[in-house]
Amino acid sequence: MTVEPGSTIGIIGGGQLGRMLAIAAAELGYDCHVIAPDLDPPAARVAARFTRSRYDDVDVLRAFANSVDVATYEFENLPAEALAELGDKLRPGTASLAIAQDRAVEKRFIEAHGGEVARWVTVESEDDADAAEQSLGLPLVLKSRRLGYDGKGQAWAREPGSAASAWESIGRAPAIAESAIDFAAEFSVILARTAAGETAVWDVPLNHHEGGILRRSTVPAGEPVTALAGQAIAIATGLADALHHVGVFTVEFFATPGGPIVNEIAPRVHNSGHWTIDGAATSQFEQHVRAICGLPLGSTRRLAASVTMDNLIGDDVLGWPRLLAEPGAHLHLYGKGEPSPGRKMGHVTRLGE
Ligand code: ADP
Ligand code: MG
Repeated sequence: MTVEPGSTIGIIGGGQLGRMLAIAAAELGYDCHVIAPDLDPPAARVAARFTRSRYDDVDVLRAFANSVDVATYEFENLPAEALAELGDKLRPGTASLAIAQDRAVEKRFIEAHGGEVARWVTVESEDDADAAEQSLGLPLVLKSRRLGYDGKGQAWAREPGSAASAWESIGRAPAIAESAIDFAAEFSVILARTAAGETAVWDVPLNHHEGGILRRSTVPAGEPVTALAGQAIAIATGLADALHHVGVFTVEFFATPGGPIVNEIAPRVHNSGHWTIDGAATSQFEQHVRAICGLPLGSTRRLAASVTMDNLIGDDVLGWPRLLAEPGAHLHLYGKGEPSPGRKMGHVTRLGE
């Protein structure tokens, strides 16, 4: 199925990922129709059409589905009602969503397809949390199975006897407990896959997080990541193939002396791929549009000797005048209004000689 330029792409979700997708789609001559529950979401202001709605209003979803030629999502936590109305128009399909909505399902899927993960167990009670501490040892991290992002819904247990209170601090939600990985670095594989199974992968970025939030991505990643990249790309490609994924697909990894360990999957464009807008021949956003519309994939070639992407989190964004004045700094602002702590407000990309 080719969805030709001039057609309408539905984007489910109104955040910065949807905004950058809509901008890339417009450059290829598509209109976007954004659906999101928010009052004035960042994606809506760059899209041809916006519907403000909950994702479980079946009548609204049906009308949305009828108004678009293909639909995609910029976040994973969509209710089944929304997916059912979209039917075959949804790219990537429901398999990719299902594994990314629940951390336990995701871990089992990764293990079943040859990816190594941190040792983990499910936690649904205080007794489970105590048992996790016994079986996994300390430190460990409790992560809610659903709805977590940017380190939200996570709590670390470092002191003996503290796993149960860590679980309490994330609201006693169904969770997994995971042993701490003593990683040398974090990195991600960002690839795009077409319906025919063709894939394209960008250079693997080195990712630096603070407080569970991505701060900086750098390519090339350097050692020890570069030595593990081939193995990690093979794992990520295998996971995308198993899901018959269509579109951009991201896998976060820990680099360890024993090899790459999979942290988590994002079945979509990813913050660690923002460097590709200014730093690669085809951005992750354009590539996603190409893949879901059945167009040929573009070149993923890096355009500079090195590329660095820094997130502007919270008040960082107030530094925009200085960044604008910096020669060669590519500033991207998401139009989110007032900054708040931990909120991703924009990013800046620098190309190195
Ligand atoms: P999110 O969905 O919020 O991105 P992640 O599982 O990726 O959740 O966790 C966020 C960050 O927390 C990771 O990028 C990493 O820096 C740290 N982290 C998560 N799990 C572990 C672990 N098992 N060992 C060490 N660090 C971890
Ligand atoms: Mg993550």
